[in-house]
Amino acid sequence: MSDTLVPEKVVIIGSGPAGWSAAIYAARAELQPLLFEGAITEENRLSGTLPLGQLALTTEVENYAGFPTGNLAGFLDSSIDKQRRQIMAPHEGRGVSGPELMELMKQQALNFGTRVMTDDIVKVDFSQRPFTLTSLEGKTTQAHTVIIATGARANYLGLESEETFKNMGVSACAVCDGALPRFREKQLVVVGGGDSAVEEADFLTKFAAKVLLVHRRDELRASKIMRQRAVDNEKIEIVWNHQLAEVLGNEQDGVTGARLKSTLDDSEQQVDVTGVFLAIGHTPNTGFLDGQLQTNDKGYVVLPTASRTYTSVEGVYSAGDVSDDYYRQAITSAGAGCMAALDAERYLAAKGL
Ligand code: NAP
Repeated sequence: MSDTLVPEKVVIIGSGPAGWSAAIYAARAELQPLLFEGAITEENRLSGTLPLGQLALTTEVENYAGFPTGNLAGFLDSSIDKQRRQIMAPHEGRGVSGPELMELMKQQALNFGTRVMTDDIVKVDFSQRPFTLTSLEGKTTQAHTVIIATGARANYLGLESEETFKNMGVSACAVCDGALPRFREKQLVVVGGGDSAVEEADFLTKFAAKVLLVHRRDELRASKIMRQRAVDNEKIEIVWNHQLAEVLGNEQDGVTGARLKSTLDDSEQQVDVTGVFLAIGHTPNTGFLDGQLQTNDKGYVVLPTASRTYTSVEGVYSAGDVSDDYYRQAITSAGAGCMAALDAERYLAAKGL
């Protein structure tokens, strides 16, 4: 499995919908895939790159085909390995949640024989075949084909004060942190105007007294249904044409306020809040590739051939958010993961590997 003499046929890096779907297809094609699901480290927790990816940080998934609203509790109990099921959050009976969907996909991949390493790939060498991959734990793996499915992570504005108060009221994941006592019955800020920002703001109103949705323009980017959700929620107030300029606080209390700057003039306002949530888009997790695959100006892996998952290196495929800055949906990622496994399978067959 690691430090191998015999190269792996398929190594999959990433454990979101693309990674697990690729694993299901590769395993059923008897390619014995090895999947690196990511390491459980504090750094990964802070950057939102823990195993099971971004969906593990969301709530209900209402748009993944095949999972209408209903009580899935019995299905989850009977399909997921008992030990893992015990440590999952209880099912709340409103259809499938992001973490549940990911656990179901993982289980399906395991059922067909996928081997899973709880480790990050931190270095790749695509200049020689078989390819060489090095993990955070220092293990090396050789592979004839590699599927990159490492997804993307939440962006921050890059303010010094954001960094200072991470873990003390600044977060990019309402679902992970929203229920903490410091946010309950308090006023909070969410920055952004897309679907994520509205989703986070809406979720936070379960706990918060009020959520200020701070958007830099006078129109939300979010879809119509999500825009309506923001308008309908009495606990959400949209602060139009403003940008977060500084997170205010102190060492003892963490976040105590925010300085908001107008994007139309030089005016500023200060608001008392105990939390600041960023929901301003994502960055693909491609740093470990160190320039060995072609990426675009935003860092996304480029797929040069239409309707294929081929990257700039033959035998290396890419699927999901890491190579998609346009659709970015669980279901499109899953479809792309399937395509990547089929592409790898055909390559291996053509090469007689
Ligand atoms: P997004 O659609 O790219 O929206 C990012 C938002 O952040 C935009 O409103 C943008 O403002 C703002 N922003 C970006 N950089 C900023 C900066 N430096 N300062 C202030 N504001 C900044 O990203 P997303 O909301 O994460 O959504 C990503 C994808 O996932 C989308 O396809 C979305 O539909 C999907 N998604 C769907 C759901 C759902 O259906 N329930 C939930 C979450 C995400 P501007 O508008 O001015 O550019």
